[in-house]
Amino acid sequence: MTDKNSPDLCTKCGVCCDGTFFDEAMIQPSDLNPVTEKLDLLRKDGKIKIKLPCSHHINYRCTIYEQRPWVCRAYECKLLKECKQGKVDEGEAIEVINTLKSAVEEIDEILEKAGIPKGRLGVHKRITALEEQSLTEMTLTEYRKANGPLLIKYRLLQKLLTERFGIPFEKKKQP
Ligand code: SF4
Ligand code: SF4
Repeated sequence: MTDKNSPDLCTKCGVCCDGTFFDEAMIQPSDLNPVTEKLDLLRKDGKIKIKLPCSHHINYRCTIYEQRPWVCRAYECKLLKECKQGKVDEGEAIEVINTLKSAVEEIDEILEKAGIPKGRLGVHKRITALEEQSLTEMTLTEYRKANGPLLIKYRLLQKLLTERFGIPFEKKKQP
């Protein structure tokens, strides 16, 4: 979400805006202006959050870049930090980003075929939706068996997100 010291990386990425990392991002009242007011916002208990995927994220780009909230300017994933520290070169970082995008696209395709369209939901919410829908007609074991390849892809996606981007996931307990 930021481009400080790494002008190209975030502009070639944008995955932290599309629900692949988080379902929402907290903003401050001082972020509100006629442009940011048009974001899809959740307001609860005095807190204001952007719903992700962000409604202003189009083709991996922020369409309100100059007016984006502070959190969007300040956020740095692990990969970006490592790139700025010189631990990872930009070419490798772009490869990792492209691997992530392809992994999400593959999962999107399977979910689409399973009747869970992308709409405005990130990948994690759609996997949960598939599980909830399936569990109304089969057991958890049957669900896991029927969706083995998808669940392996999803687990690998989580591993990639944790290892390269610093996004933690709790492993579900086996029944
Ligand atoms: S995921 Fe990381 S590299 Fe990509 S746009 Fe967000 S902060 Fe930048
Ligand atoms: S306002 Fe821009 S930078 Fe912030 S989440 Fe939306 S698309 Fe991303």
